[in-house]
Amino acid sequence: MTDRDLTKSLKDSAFKMNADIIGFADPTCFLNPDYTGNKPQDVMPDVRSVIVLGVSVPHGAFETLPAGRAEYTNTLMAGTATLRVIAFQLAKLIEKKGYKATILPSEGSEFGYWYANKETLKANMSIKYAAYYAGLSNFGMNHLLISKEYGPKVRMTAILTDAELDNETEITLPFVHEHCSSCLKCIKICPAGALSEDGTIDKHKCADYMFNTLGGLRCGMCIKVCPL
Ligand code: SF4
Ligand code: SF4
Repeated sequence: MTDRDLTKSLKDSAFKMNADIIGFADPTCFLNPDYTGNKPQDVMPDVRSVIVLGVSVPHGAFETLPAGRAEYTNTLMAGTATLRVIAFQLAKLIEKKGYKATILPSEGSEFGYWYANKETLKANMSIKYAAYYAGLSNFGMNHLLISKEYGPKVRMTAILTDAELDNETEITLPFVHEHCSSCLKCIKICPAGALSEDGTIDKHKCADYMFNTLGGLRCGMCIKVCPL
């Protein structure tokens, strides 16, 4: 049965702890035939809800790129640390109610693709896909999540739980943001040539650029130029 009280408590607690975004996705979305990534069901077979959490990232971190790459990287990691604290408290709140919860790594957290499969560079679950089915965002041509309120300038994580939360969401957004086809700025700016007009990304080129060319600092140029 849907636990509406817990859903409300999680929302209230997240905003009190300065999260900017929270939503709930039905994990059966990952069983759609169009989804080709790893599934949360492989991590938690009885998962009933995916909680998607986000914080917006200060604009100065993007405006000062590329000179401010160290500051940008550090600001992103501060966002990740903030999300971890919030997600940890929410996971404990869920477990106090008798359910179980575990926290997914933020996409692109401090070890880059450290958490991902080394060959495919795919994470255990696409947080972006969950965010779409939680009604929070859609996709940009830069392969980043375009949140309704903050565009791509966000940091995200997710919690898996066997609690049945209120995740009935009407999906109104197109899968890819409607502004992208007349923009393509992210594709033109990408220094690694990782993004293509057909909507694909070469993750290895992006990872190689950040972890070899930049020595581990983040790039962020595809987010900086995004007008959304
Ligand atoms: S830069 Fe343009 S094409 Fe790329 S995600 Fe943003 S709006 Fe879409
Ligand atoms: S982070 Fe940089 S290298 Fe990776 S896709 Fe974006 S612009 Fe290209």
